[in-house]
Amino acid sequence: MIQLADLRKNPALLKLDLYCKGARLDDSCLVEEDGGRKVLRTRAGLGSGLELILAGPPGGPAEFWTNVPVSESFAESSPYTLHREAGKYILRRDGLAVTEVRLSPRPDWYDRKTSTGKPMTRIGTLQGTYLGIYQAKVCEYWTVKPERVNCKFCSVGLNLGLDDADEKSIEEVMEVVRAARDESGITYVDFNTGHYTGETFLDILEPLIRRVKSELGLLVGVQTPPHHDLARYDQLRDMGVNRVSFCFEIYDRQIFKDICPGKDEAYGLDRYLRAVRYCAGLADRGPKDEPWVTNGEIIAGLESPESSIAAIDWITSVGAIPTVCVFRPLKGTDLEHAAPPKTEDMIPVFRRLYEACMERALPIGCAPNVHVSLVMLPEECRTLSPRRFPWQNLKLKAMAKVFAGRFGRRLAAKAGAAREVRAVGWVRVA
Ligand code: SF4
Repeated sequence: MIQLADLRKNPALLKLDLYCKGARLDDSCLVEEDGGRKVLRTRAGLGSGLELILAGPPGGPAEFWTNVPVSESFAESSPYTLHREAGKYILRRDGLAVTEVRLSPRPDWYDRKTSTGKPMTRIGTLQGTYLGIYQAKVCEYWTVKPERVNCKFCSVGLNLGLDDADEKSIEEVMEVVRAARDESGITYVDFNTGHYTGETFLDILEPLIRRVKSELGLLVGVQTPPHHDLARYDQLRDMGVNRVSFCFEIYDRQIFKDICPGKDEAYGLDRYLRAVRYCAGLADRGPKDEPWVTNGEIIAGLESPESSIAAIDWITSVGAIPTVCVFRPLKGTDLEHAAPPKTEDMIPVFRRLYEACMERALPIGCAPNVHVSLVMLPEECRTLSPRRFPWQNLKLKAMAKVFAGRFGRRLAAKAGAAREVRAVGWVRVA
């Protein structure tokens, strides 16, 4: 059992342990009344929980944003409980205080509708400090006949039509992106789609990407299946896209086939890996003022830790950055009765995530004001490793500083009037 003293001083360990065990909410909690975010079944297919902020470690990121499972059955037996005591939120394990936490703030726009009358949260939601938009109709793996072939951990087909709007016009999306920029200070928008016949996912997203880049200048990411025409990624790079992400989920070929039957049939693991490798090679091409990262996304806990580590090593070997989720058996999914992974098994995976990125000096932690609640970011895993990487840290700090300055000026210029700029969270007006 992980020592309480370690959880108190190591937020990476605590964030990980909460992903694996979830938490119970004491009756004293008044999440929405206290300005917190409602528990939404989120589109990533792995989120469902309460958005919280943990304090960061000395010398590390100041805050760790997280999404703690509270609705799943495994959370009902969690040793963690959240209490509201004298107006503060205290996380306890087996009754003993671990730390004070904060509720991730719910912005005013969460309670508003678009000018077309749709709740803004059905167009996009904050996941940590960035805006996530699942842009198109439900992934076709959920609707294919005679039998659906969706990924077994996924909840997207359960969400749509409930928390998410089926049809979203470009104007509706722009209205929500503007609100999130002006009121929540977002710097990054992530567009996500499922699988569509004819590989139309990039055609659907490109008009939106162009609008967001030209009108708002925000960082933009795209998460879709791998397009067969790799030249499409050169075009995204030229358009100013900053991140492409390919979710192959599982590196073990047999488990990939079993858990992701649709992906296996339509694309196959090799096509995902080819796209990751190709896109990682585009970093030194394209507009100089637009950073570019490629992510290979996996879910730890659905295969052995050794296999997850092999995936991390492969992804970083081609110059891409792993995004590592922790498997969460979401309610209503095909895997809802599976057990979540053990924290002890996850620690070596996330330690390796940090070390592999640092060994290759990959650009982690450089984007300004991007806190992610649904995964452990590589830079957040520093305190899981005894290794220190002095020159890599210096390089990353310098990169982050240069980029923040340049990007801040661009956002300010796009925002125009100083009054409006002031509303853009982290951008300071001289
Ligand atoms: S590709 Fe898989 S994980 Fe993605 S939306 Fe479709 S079923 Fe869900």
